[in-house]
Amino acid sequence: MTEFIICGSAAAEAWPAIFCNCRCCQEAFARGGKEIRTRTTYHLGDTVHIDFGPDACTQMQRFRLPFDRLKHLLITHSHQDHWLPSELCYRRPGFSVVDEENILTVHGNARVREKLEAAVGDDFPFYRLRFEEVRPGRPIDLGDGMRAVPVPANHDRKEMCVFYLLQVGDRVLLQANDTGWFLDSAWEILRDYEIDIVVMDSTSGKIESREGHLGCRWVVALRDEMLAQGILKTEHRFIANHFSHNGGWLHTELEEYFAPHGIEVGYDGMRIPV
Ligand SMILES: [Zn+2]
Ligand SMILES: [Zn+2]
Ligand SMILES: [Zn+2]
Repeated sequence: MTEFIICGSAAAEAWPAIFCNCRCCQEAFARGGKEIRTRTTYHLGDTVHIDFGPDACTQMQRFRLPFDRLKHLLITHSHQDHWLPSELCYRRPGFSVVDEENILTVHGNARVREKLEAAVGDDFPFYRLRFEEVRPGRPIDLGDGMRAVPVPANHDRKEMCVFYLLQVGDRVLLQANDTGWFLDSAWEILRDYEIDIVVMDSTSGKIESREGHLGCRWVVALRDEMLAQGILKTEHRFIANHFSHNGGWLHTELEEYFAPHGIEVGYDGMRIPV
């Protein structure tokens, strides 16, 4: 059975945010547990990781992720909480023992490539790296019966931000952050699928937000719209994730809001069987 792991569940500045004195950060400090959130990344099976931000190494250690077996890094966009390629410097000889045939393919947009080159230069083979530019709607073969389809995100118009529809055998999981309400071009791609599991951007919490990121109210509305359009199976799991302390609701408060709608609340270390 393949597992999808939520390795991180916070927006850019983590939660508690590093210098923050707000109620949500102070309360998270006091409570610990699920209230402590690192920057959002995901892990699928043993070989696929989605996004690679400032907490990637900590997440690898904490959740015992076999990064030495990673084959694919799927990057959603170049914001530094999702893409901090300087850590890839340590794939080079002298820092990590990586077999010559052990190649890690980074999939991302043109801006993701620019940042990768700025971090490690253009001699990718020295780092046992390859780069593939993503195109919305064009499937990526991940091996082991897995496939990813990049879907355009409603996020930052300065670059082609995407999220990924993941197929594992006959199961379909949609990882959808960072995004606001789906763009027409996203609905166009998603219309061809019946999704089993969704992990959905919920950055803004109780704050009203429909563009760039979603507030909780719009997460519910988007789930309902996906159901109405037949994109989401009636029997599904819908999990909100990628939260900012600025959204104003702690884990338990998010659970209180979402539970009546049958929506779960993501947290660091949540393991989802696909
Ligand atoms: Zn983000
Ligand atoms: Zn705060
Ligand atoms: Zn972003």
